[in-house]
Amino acid sequence: MIVLKFGGTSMGSAKRMEEVFRLVKREGPCVVVLSAMAGITDKLIRAGSNFKIGDREEGQNDLQWIRNRFEDTCVELFRQKVSRDTIMLFLEKAFGDIVFRVSGEITQETINWLIVQGEMITSHIFSDYMQERGFPSVLLDAAGFMRLDEAGEPDLPAIERRLPPMLGLGGDLIYVTQGFVCMNHRGETDNLKRGGSDYSATLIGAAVRAEMIEIWTDIDGMQNNDPREVENTFSIRRLSFDEAAELAYFGAKILHPACVWPAQQFNIPIWLRNTMDPENPGTMIRSGGERQQITAIAAKDHITAIRIRSGRMLNTYGFLVMVFKVFEDFQTPIDMITTSEVSVSLTIDNDIHLDGIVGALEKYGAVEVDRDQSIICVVGDFLVDRYGSAARILHSLPDIPIRMISYGGSQNNISFLVSSADKKRALNALNVGLFRMTKIPDYAHS
Ligand code: ADP
Ligand code: ASP
Ligand code: MG
Repeated sequence: MIVLKFGGTSMGSAKRMEEVFRLVKREGPCVVVLSAMAGITDKLIRAGSNFKIGDREEGQNDLQWIRNRFEDTCVELFRQKVSRDTIMLFLEKAFGDIVFRVSGEITQETINWLIVQGEMITSHIFSDYMQERGFPSVLLDAAGFMRLDEAGEPDLPAIERRLPPMLGLGGDLIYVTQGFVCMNHRGETDNLKRGGSDYSATLIGAAVRAEMIEIWTDIDGMQNNDPREVENTFSIRRLSFDEAAELAYFGAKILHPACVWPAQQFNIPIWLRNTMDPENPGTMIRSGGERQQITAIAAKDHITAIRIRSGRMLNTYGFLVMVFKVFEDFQTPIDMITTSEVSVSLTIDNDIHLDGIVGALEKYGAVEVDRDQSIICVVGDFLVDRYGSAARILHSLPDIPIRMISYGGSQNNISFLVSSADKKRALNALNVGLFRMTKIPDYAHS
């Protein structure tokens, strides 16, 4: 079994869907995991907040925009009148349901249901299109097997129990399902957070012990640096699971931050491929392989840095326990941490409890907060820094103020904190310092 996931741009128009059809009809048996057409989830989120604040007119405008987009796509995509009529009836009903749901009280549950409708509708359109082209597919409702546990994390054992029996129809069937969509432990429709279709694909791959998970997107695989910030990036042909996980977690948007572990757990390769250039080798993520000194750079934004300074730290023990307890109490994960004799600096990316955290920490010392920071993460092999990579990193950034450095916590990454205003400059300076002044790997030229 192969799992193929197509992202929003890959599904972004009738032309793109035809291309995806050409790519999947060659495979079998396979599970095809689909995102919503590009732009739809953003618009649904917007619609949800407009209804929530009582701006029904704007909310309806958003829904109409979405409906027009789907209808125009279907008019272009379907060739036969009968299938076009069928899909228009489906859209009529789908938008009837949406309008009904948003006419009542707008709870978090309503919003969670609303924002996955892009995936629900896109997958239905694609499955009908396959039907029209003579490749029958089975449309699976992801809420029937994709489960979250009480902590809001994917419940892989529950997915493993539910999904394989649903795929038991035999033959070379193509199963089509929605990424992003899941059901939480209360039995409500929920989602796997932004970009979550990648996570759906790796969870499905793990649950069925797939041979391969192919993630099809709009770029030639993982780049050595963020292509949104740096012009001359190159594709990385091979990555280990650990390297890919670090890059995803620290902001390489091509992969959902948490999506690597399910594949890694069962040693299932993840192949990142470009829908617009299917011949391109993309990036293969698998265990082992030769390691690079420095593989890639990623950046994560919206980081808040907190420094606690206290004379009480000097020659005492137990201080860090008290500090960590505060973050545990407020259920806020810490990303980076550095300590000195009299102070601790740490970063968080979720600041909804910031006021409570600061209030609690002030009992132990003076607290300073810096918002709008970015973590820049250099991923590579730093087990023994025999190549002087750490020095090269710092040399590349002579005029960029660095707020924190984290080195040695992981053999795969060196990360540091800069103000977000300096992020672009830092990424570009590192691209020159680490990739152009050193030997570029041979495959980078291919
Ligand atoms: P999809 O809709 O297919 O899931 P995404 O937009 O979520 O696509 O992810 C692909 C995008 O990720 C690329 O177009 C690129 O702009 C961005 N990106 C950020 N960092 C990287 C990186 N290191 N390598 C490749 N793409 C990256
Ligand atoms: N459509 C969802 C989003 O935009 C999920 C995904 O594309 O992976 O976040
Ligand atoms: Mg994505």
